[in-house]
Amino acid sequence: MKKCIIFLLVFIIAAISGCAQEEIPEDAIWDRNPGEHWINGENGEKLHIGEHELDEENFCTVCKSFVEYQTDGSTDVCNYDEKYNLTRSTSFDSEGNILFDYVMEYKYNEKNAISYEATYQNGRLYEETEYLEDEIIKNFYEEDGSHSIEIYRKDISEIDEGRSYDAEGNLLYEHFNQNFITDEGSVYLTRVTDIHYFIEIKQIREFNAIGDEISCKSYNLGDELLSSYDYIYEYGEENIINYQKTLFNGNLESENFFDIITENGELLSQLKKTITYYENGSKLVREFDKNGNEISAINYDANGNVIE
Ligand SMILES: [Zn+2]
Repeated sequence: MKKCIIFLLVFIIAAISGCAQEEIPEDAIWDRNPGEHWINGENGEKLHIGEHELDEENFCTVCKSFVEYQTDGSTDVCNYDEKYNLTRSTSFDSEGNILFDYVMEYKYNEKNAISYEATYQNGRLYEETEYLEDEIIKNFYEEDGSHSIEIYRKDISEIDEGRSYDAEGNLLYEHFNQNFITDEGSVYLTRVTDIHYFIEIKQIREFNAIGDEISCKSYNLGDELLSSYDYIYEYGEENIINYQKTLFNGNLESENFFDIITENGELLSQLKKTITYYENGSKLVREFDKNGNEISAINYDANGNVIE
């Protein structure tokens, strides 16, 4: 009798789960590999397993995956939402092992534009983007727990900025990009400011529109200036440097003179002379030939007399 009841129970459970298998919820998320699709059950079991039924455009009519078999034996399987945005992209090797797997989530605003986007790489959230009215905010999450944020202003005259943090949440790095807009509407990146936070020092470096560093200043934790370098440039054709000088704590430290040469059709700066200035007023003048070899090095005292 007991045996009978057990058999009956097994039969009922089988019947119930059999029934459940018949109905596939509309919002069910299909999992898939190069050959098959299925729905993951609560306990990791594969439900509704079936082979892909590809139409002439290689979309499965059941799980809606786009399946692309590559000539090297690998397979890419992609899925899209009803707005044709990519929701998952998985690449499999010829053995069916996953090479990479990206899952994308979207939120749409009332105008049907993406307002939020998240990307998971192999199951781990690694990028989030919020599209706000005035700015775009991107967050990146690294495997080691560090994290960075980038803010892009839609008004191009506003400053874009970014920050990086270590796994403990300590600020390591900040940067600010300042654009300049001409009356004609052209946009130039005019100044980049990088701030590095070291254990006891904050270092601020600034770059001009060409990307050349124009200053490097170090501060202690009390924001006291410890040292400053200023770099001043003169440019020739095509923004090629023909002169550069360095000031250390406001005093002239060195001057560099360049020839602008053409090499393989490209203009380049070639150093021809450097002058190094010393605190006692003496200086060293060095000159170089076209191959970069030093041809002379002469020391002068504070009165301009050659030191033999
Ligand atoms: Zn399928």
